[in-house]
Amino acid sequence: MIRVEDVHKVFGGALHALNGITTEIRKGEVVVVVGPSGSGKSTFLRSLNLLEVPSSGKIYFEGVDITDKKVNIDQHRQKMGMVFQHFNLFPHKTILENITLAPIKVRRKSKEEAEKQAMELLQLVGLEEKAHSYPSQLSGGQKQRIAIVRSLAMEPDVMLFDEPTSALDPEMVGEVLDLMKQLAKDGMTMVVVTHEMGFAREVGTRVIFMDAGQIKEEADPEEFFTNPKDPRLQEFLSKVL
Ligand code: ADP
Ligand code: MG
Repeated sequence: MIRVEDVHKVFGGALHALNGITTEIRKGEVVVVVGPSGSGKSTFLRSLNLLEVPSSGKIYFEGVDITDKKVNIDQHRQKMGMVFQHFNLFPHKTILENITLAPIKVRRKSKEEAEKQAMELLQLVGLEEKAHSYPSQLSGGQKQRIAIVRSLAMEPDVMLFDEPTSALDPEMVGEVLDLMKQLAKDGMTMVVVTHEMGFAREVGTRVIFMDAGQIKEEADPEEFFTNPKDPRLQEFLSKVL
């Protein structure tokens, strides 16, 4: 689904945030990305949908080189849902409006069709009674689940998560992880940057360790956690586990 070939990203001429990343994300995989703060995890994730434009290297999405300047990136970006640490819901729109906005504007769905789909998604996450509430009336965990639902309403082929639970109170982390686990079970292709090692272990099909803008280790969760090879990964795991 996604192929990343020797991607570099340099900020301000000197800061090498990504230093030669090569990997691929296959359909149905749940790839979990971990690593110390500042190791380039967000830059990597954001480069997958070209929110960060690589300084060099190529990214193929569903066979198309999206780093090619001639490509209409918006068309491809629609197929990649993204969920951030902060929910970025529109505060002056209701939950239903937040969810239906892009499907109506971008996907050219009718209001009725978009609302029907939104209500189905809300039912799925048990938040249908919040349809006419505003974001400020929801808890952090509810807001993040709505942010995920909003992405799903665009019917993406892949979902990108950047520390989706890092800004939540501890008691709300579980409900968001449970929804992500459900998505994974339903076959969604996912790339997840997180510090939740339990999620990585239980839900991930592959775990990537980034350090200093490079992928230092990449393995299935069992191997990754029980037999880490890179010394920096061993050190990292000794701190977080
Ligand atoms: P992580 O998500 O692993 O914490 P980031 O990808 O956010 O790491 O950052 C990697 C490095 O790139 C850091 O040194 C960070 O300060 C730098 N960086 C990230 N975004 C920018 C930016 N827009 N401008 C300048 N430097 C940036
Ligand atoms: Mg980050």
